[in-house]
Amino acid sequence: MRYRTLGLAAGAAAALFALACGTIVARAKTVAGLDARIEAVEPKVIAWRRDIHAHPELGNRETRTSKMVADHLKKLGFDEVRTGIAYTGVVGILRGGKPGPVVALRADMDALPVEEKTGLPFASTVKSTYEGKPVSVMHACGHDTHTAMLMGAAEVLAGMKADIPGTIVFVFQPAEEGAPLAEGGGAKLMLEQKALSNPRPAAMFGLHVFPNESGKIFYRAEGFFAASDRIRITLTGRQTHGARPWSGVDVSSLAAESILAMNQIAARQVNVAKSPTIITIASVHGGVRHNIIPEEMVLTGTLRTFDPAARTDVMARITHTLENLADSYGAKAKIEFQEPNPVTWNDKALAAWALPSLQRAAGGADRVDVNAELVTGSEDFSYFAKEIPSVYVQLGSRPKGADPITVAVNHSPFYDVDEDALIVGVRTHVFLALDFLARGNSPQ
Ligand SMILES: [Zn+2]
Ligand SMILES: [Zn+2]
Repeated sequence: MRYRTLGLAAGAAAALFALACGTIVARAKTVAGLDARIEAVEPKVIAWRRDIHAHPELGNRETRTSKMVADHLKKLGFDEVRTGIAYTGVVGILRGGKPGPVVALRADMDALPVEEKTGLPFASTVKSTYEGKPVSVMHACGHDTHTAMLMGAAEVLAGMKADIPGTIVFVFQPAEEGAPLAEGGGAKLMLEQKALSNPRPAAMFGLHVFPNESGKIFYRAEGFFAASDRIRITLTGRQTHGARPWSGVDVSSLAAESILAMNQIAARQVNVAKSPTIITIASVHGGVRHNIIPEEMVLTGTLRTFDPAARTDVMARITHTLENLADSYGAKAKIEFQEPNPVTWNDKALAAWALPSLQRAAGGADRVDVNAELVTGSEDFSYFAKEIPSVYVQLGSRPKGADPITVAVNHSPFYDVDEDALIVGVRTHVFLALDFLARGNSPQ
């Protein structure tokens, strides 16, 4: 499948697009042969994707992949290629021949502990260990395609370095899916290690493959992917005989009431019309015998929210409700929210600005959905988006002939992509970067 590009007069000084809001914003000068350059890199992108797919590596272990990326960027003549950031991350700096702002593009490189069942000729047979257990490894979330697409964009943009009015920072990130518990990692650790401090990007863009219609782009302004928090509740009562509950404090009953109370918070106290909230308690641990009411019970679960204020509010409600409920039993409740991933927040003005570039990348106004469904999964790109105005989009890449209802989704052992969508991802990176730099240092 090939995609139309919106024709812009070659050699025009600047292409101008009118936004719905009426502002006029400069777009990148149409570079002669840019579309041809992007098409020329497509077979390489597909080959890299297959190579990376056949050699998946778990989070913080992406040594082969990051070496492949770093070698590629060095060969392309990047000004700087920093390696070993947040274990295996790579940051490449491409300084254009003309002065201008700084923009960042991001891809993640890690795979998952999943046994591949796609039957593809380049399917993974890799084994590794995860949290001490032997596992198979697969690029079941499509990060192989993300790395390959950004490598392709790097090649296209490095080929026109002299004409670029500004600096492009290429971020190849490890461990998006979560690092081994004792290590930490991902976007958060890259930021802690000052990966984006020098130079500091004025905007950042990223994308994720998703089994929607192939080649289409899906996104929305403001909250897009959910914030996630792991909930851990420790209930402490007083141990007693199962036949004499009045002699102690019954944490089993308290646990049951606590779960119901949290369900009630989600259902009755949150404005679901404004911002969906999911509270799930998925594990209950406590007790060893049928006739001993234990001293302690531990509940764990997950909280998913889409709005920072709603998240703060619901966390306070959970804490308030459970502490008071425990108090009514004469027990104690300790509520912890762990491993937070913020909402993946698309800057409103930047999201509106990005639309013409995305339409051009996808091949038409009808190829971009600006009202994409909320994603209840979370994404650690959110850490970058918290610090730098960002736009994160989904790239539809459902395999040809796959049923939209039963298609294997990300993290499935059968997950696959339509490789014809990858060129749209390369275009997305290239056009967003060039168009952003064409704005110059104006605040528009
Ligand atoms: Zn994933
Ligand atoms: Zn992913």
